[in-house]
Amino acid sequence: MSQVAERRSVILVVEDEASYQDALSVGLSVEGFDVIGATNIAEARHLMNTRSPDLVLLDVMLPDGSGVDYCRELRASSPTPVIMVSARSSELDVVLGLEIGAADYVTKPFRLRELVARIRAVLRRPTSETDDEVVNFGDLRLDLMRRTLTKRGREITLSRKEFDLLALLATRLGQVVTRETCLDTLWWGLELSDSRTLDTHVKRLRQKIEDDPATPVHLHTIRGVGFRLDL
Ligand code: CA
Repeated sequence: MSQVAERRSVILVVEDEASYQDALSVGLSVEGFDVIGATNIAEARHLMNTRSPDLVLLDVMLPDGSGVDYCRELRASSPTPVIMVSARSSELDVVLGLEIGAADYVTKPFRLRELVARIRAVLRRPTSETDDEVVNFGDLRLDLMRRTLTKRGREITLSRKEFDLLALLATRLGQVVTRETCLDTLWWGLELSDSRTLDTHVKRLRQKIEDDPATPVHLHTIRGVGFRLDL
């Protein structure tokens, strides 16, 4: 019997803690990945050149430098996606405060199942992403091609209409979009007088994207006119 072997994705794990390196090596292999390990940035650079992995799991604190700096270096030189791994949420705050271009983030300790789900999600993303298809505002990142919204790296689930409304406002960032335009674009044929459904969607979007929905910093209502999305 002939079998077509599916190519296994190669994950480069850059991690100096032996316990994590071992656990990830075993755990990710069981999940169907080929794992190559580096315990410092110098080894990682070598493996990037010799093995061209499909994804890099990158610890923040490494013996010969900062994972944050190495992530920047990778972003400038390679399309390979990076998932940052931090030991503390305070480290993660630092990572998230910097625009280093990581595809996702996890904090130790993490569940293998959660990490695998994130790895698979990142590997599924198209690599030909251009800036035109992504709108960044605040901590939020709206990907118009993939129809996803992430906040500080975490995906936020939106209904189809919520996404379409946010996309409409995001492509006119900083400009007022009238209620009429929103209704015409999203709810063709709905009377302006019967537009409560629009307000319901705006309210739900605020609950999902704003830190404090009562005092929004991104999604503003311009009374009697429409809505404006700000950075
Ligand atoms: Ca470390």
